[in-house]
Formats: sequence, structure tokens, C-alpha cells
Amino acid sequence: MINTAIILAAGCGTRLRPHLASHLPKGALPLQDTPIIETSIQTLLANGITTIYIGTGHGSDWYDALSNQYPGIHCIKNPDFATSGSMHTLAAIIPYINGPILLLESDLIYEKRAISYLYDYPEPNSILATPYYGYGDEVFITVNPQDYLVSMSKKADGDPQLQHVLSGISKCSLDLLHRMATCYQTHATRMVDYETILTESSQHIPIRILNNPEIHVMEVDTPDHYNRALSLYPDIKIRNRCHHHERRYLLNPGPATLSKAVQYAQIVPDICPRETEFTGVVSEIKQHLQTIASHQSDEVTVTLFSGSGTASVESMLSSVIRDTDHVLIINQGAYGERMIQIATIHGLPHTVFSPPPFTAIPYTALDNLLSQGRFTHLALVHHETTTGLLNDLGPISALAQHYQLIVCLDAMSSFGAAPLDMMTDTVHFCAASSNKNIQGTAGIGMVISQKAALAALVNGPKRSLYLDLYSNAHYQIHQFQFTPPVHTLYALREALRELMTEGVSNRYARYRNAWQQLHTHMTTLGFDSLVDSQVHGGLITAYRVPPNSRFSFEDFHDYLYRRHITIYPGKLREHATFRMATIGDLTPTDITHICNEITTYFQKNPL
Ligand code: PLP
Ligand code: MG
Ligand code: MG
Repeated sequence: MINTAIILAAGCGTRLRPHLASHLPKGALPLQDTPIIETSIQTLLANGITTIYIGTGHGSDWYDALSNQYPGIHCIKNPDFATSGSMHTLAAIIPYINGPILLLESDLIYEKRAISYLYDYPEPNSILATPYYGYGDEVFITVNPQDYLVSMSKKADGDPQLQHVLSGISKCSLDLLHRMATCYQTHATRMVDYETILTESSQHIPIRILNNPEIHVMEVDTPDHYNRALSLYPDIKIRNRCHHHERRYLLNPGPATLSKAVQYAQIVPDICPRETEFTGVVSEIKQHLQTIASHQSDEVTVTLFSGSGTASVESMLSSVIRDTDHVLIINQGAYGERMIQIATIHGLPHTVFSPPPFTAIPYTALDNLLSQGRFTHLALVHHETTTGLLNDLGPISALAQHYQLIVCLDAMSSFGAAPLDMMTDTVHFCAASSNKNIQGTAGIGMVISQKAALAALVNGPKRSLYLDLYSNAHYQIHQFQFTPPVHTLYALREALRELMTEGVSNRYARYRNAWQQLHTHMTTLGFDSLVDSQVHGGLITAYRVPPNSRFSFEDFHDYLYRRHITIYPGKLREHATFRMATIGDLTPTDITHICNEITTYFQKNPL
């Protein structure tokens, strides 16, 4: 928890003199009638900072007067400001500090997100960097392959376009501040900048450089800066008002990257979910889901649960299979295993069939097993998210019809993209969730049932109050039996509207193209997929960790994460893998950007 900020404000600001009276400090520079530092103070106070130390020097009286207008501001004067650097000012404040702080220069305009971004990032010592915009007077930052600070300089080390630029906003732990104080004592001169000492201290305490091209920050040192700042400032104010946040690229298998419309759909007036207005939302959601589940949409019905995907799988299996039934569970990975766990916990009579996990189901072997005549139900995962294998429902449907089996399908990571028609594919019950291909937020599990199969459960087993499928399905029309996650449902409705507009087959084509683009790139870099290409769904790929390579998933993950790209660890016991999904609101341009970042990583960290 950071509640303290330090603003270094002792400088004279001589270069700004035409815009700044000579007795005034730089922080007094007016931007839209408010002194530049006052806007900064207001931003800090509005974002969780309660104590601000201002290191003053030139024009200190002006800061003293300002500090009286706000709570929690303390001015500490550096009396030697004319003959010392910014580190001398900081050193005078450090004794007052007893926890982590945000460190800012006094002459910055910035979006408020700059504060929350550093605040939230799980790194105790970090500097917010920006790309090079050619403003002039930049401090360039050189980093190591893990993005830790190596050096800072007024001169670019090579092409400035490829370098990080110091924003003037940093996050420092108390340890780092103490290290800086110690480090400063070894210097013979007082004319030392705080960035020099940060660099020297980083040899003992790593300082991460976080480059966020989407956050506007600008330092105002010169008249030219000032003119640019005046034109940039209105945009910053708009961004602050709009809750604008940066785009993130989620390559984990859901929750997926959302559209802005889905994110904002959650901001709604307070509403009681028992009102007709709200049941209209639920009704629309069910309509869309029925349409996705089968072209004979009147033959299926949708039951929604407040819960993750596992809730819907558990509801389906525990409500459908009676003590006198016997289900054959096809296990091809972690989600097959999850069905076995559910069957075991609820004491469902079951047998497990575990075919090789990376190739198509051996249908002859399955046929032989089913021909024993013991089974009433077949349960399987449509798309095994741990590997990326997509089962062909054609042969399954034929076997189910031949042996008159009720089919329970976990379609969590296929529903809404991969082809599926519950009526023609002989799927009696299908479990899905809001946060994968549907591109909604997490929190809704759904079971879609063939109406006739659901009706047959009238005297079905009752193993759970909350998850019983029949009673939830037959509760009052378009009402949840138990309290629904209201805002999540508004997002789900918006996501389904988007899906209906795009079309399920177009969405699948978009995902597959994204997969093709990324997969080709990964293959060129030397990675290969676990699953045979003929049975790969084109939605998520489990890549083998190349044996005997220097590859570290954690390092790769962290590097991409700092660039707003999230990848996912593997989930297979016998194979070292990691995963990348290409679902969500991603465009070909996004994938190109992701491929470029991946290339840069492997240039710095060869396999
Ligand atoms: N089944 C499959 C195929 C899945 O991919 C997942 C989650 O990724 C689940 C079940 C479980 O869903 P949840 O984690 O939302 O409970
Ligand atoms: Mg400067
Ligand atoms: Mg400056």
C-alpha cells in the first residue's frame, strides 16, 4: 500500500523564464489556469496518496503557500538548491519516509493512470518509461534483457526510437531510498541528479523499467515543451475523464480480451434482478444462446448459473446421471479428469476411457467398449483446453445414436466458435461459460439442454440444491433461482449481441486465422504443438518447451506481461508445455504486434 509521494521541486526553471516570473518556481507554471504542480497534487490525492513531501528550493515561499491549501503536504527546503542537484533535495526528505513512495518531478503533466499503473504493478522498484517522442532533453534508459535498469543518459545509445525515455515518475521501496542515501554519501560533489543515484543503486537493488506507450506523460523543461504540453493537455483531461485504459492482449484460454463495449456494458443503474426490466436481459441472453446451440433453437433450453464453467459441468453431470445409470467418461486431459472428479465426488456410476491425448479418439476401440451395452451416458470434452484438441462430433453422434446414449458435452472452450449443433450432433446436454469464445466477463456457467432430455429428469436425482439442473431450469421464467451477478449479465448480453453480429462461423474463422498467424510464427522460432494438426482446433495451442534449451516460461511470460500480453502455463503432467490461445477481441494487427514482441524477446533471449 503506497500512500506517500515525493515531488522534487527545488530547481530554478530558468529555461522557462519567458513563461514564468523569475521569483516563481517551475511548479507554478500555469496550465489551463492551474499551476502544473497543483494538478499533479490533485491527481495524487485523488488516487490514494495521502502524504506528499515537496522538496523545495527556488521559490520555496510559493510552495509553502500552496501546501497550506491542501491536507497532507509537507515542504522540505533544500537551502543549497542553487549549488546542488536533485539528489540533494531527495536526501533531505528520505529521513521522513517510512515506507514505499512514488517519486515525481515537479514539471510533469500526466494521465492519472500513470499513478495506478505503477501502484498496481507487482514490482517494488520501478520506473515508468515512455517511448521516444522527440520532445528534446530526454533522459534515455538502457535496460537488460529482463527490462531492469542498466543506465540512464542524456545521449541515446543507438537509435532513439528503440529506447525507453524516463517519464519522471517512479516507485521506490524504503530499501531503495536508503540505498540511494548511502550511495549519495560516497559522492564528492553535490551536483548530482537523482537519476544518477538511481542508476548506481540499481546495481544492488534491481529497478524494473515499465514502458507503457499508452500512458501520456510529458516533462516541461523548455518553452517548446510548454507549447507542446498546452496542446497535449486537453487530451490528457479527456482521457482522465473517460476511464480510458490500455489495451491488453489475453492469450490465456479465457477470460478473453473484451471489447470496450462489453467492458462498459457493466456500468448500469442499480437494479433489482427480480424486476421485469432485468428479466428482459436474461431472456435475450437465453434467446441468443439457444440460437448458437442449434439451428432448431426451439428444441433446446438454457439454464444459467452464477458460477464458473466448472459449476455448469458439475450441474450437468450430477443432475443428469442417476444411481442406476452408467456413464462412460472420455478422458483426454485435465478437463476430462475434472469430469471424473465430479463423478467420483457425487458417486456417479462411471467408467473412464483414456485414449491417447494428442490424436483423434480411436472410434473402433470406443465402439468396442460401448458394445458391451453397460452404458447409458457418454460424457466428453469437446475441445480439450489443456492441449487444443478438438473432437469431431460426427462419429460420436453416430455411436450415441446407435447405442442410444445420452451425451453430456463439456463445450466450455469451443462453444460460440467451433461448429456445434446440439440437435444434429446428438448432444443432449452441453456445458459452457460466459468468458471464453462468447467474449463476456467471467461468472456465468450455462447448461443448454435438449428439451425432451431435460423433461425426462422430472424425477431425476437431487444431489445439490444450488446446482440442480431441473429445478433451476423450471424456476420462474427468466428469473434466476438464486441471486444472479447482475453486471456480469449485462456484459454477457452485450457480448452475445456482438457474437450474433459477427456470426459464429466468422468468429471461428477469425480465431483460426489468428492461430494460423501466431502458430506459423512460433513454428519459425522453433516451437511445436503437442497435438496433431488434423485434430487441432485452432483456438489454443500447447507448445512443447524445447528440451535442453535455455527457455524459461516465467521469464518469457513476465517479459510479455510487461508489454500487456498474457500467456499461460501448461497443465499437463507428463509434458513441459505452455499455452497460447487466440480467442477474444483480437485483430490481425494485434497478432502482428504480439509476434513482433515475441521476436524481440527471442532476439534478446535465444533458445
Ligand atoms: N472445461 C473446460 C474444457 C475448460 O476449458 C474449463 C476452463 O478453462 C473448465 C471446464 C472449467 O471452467 P472454470 O475454470 O471456469 O471453472
Ligand atoms: Mg528534463
Ligand atoms: Mg525537468
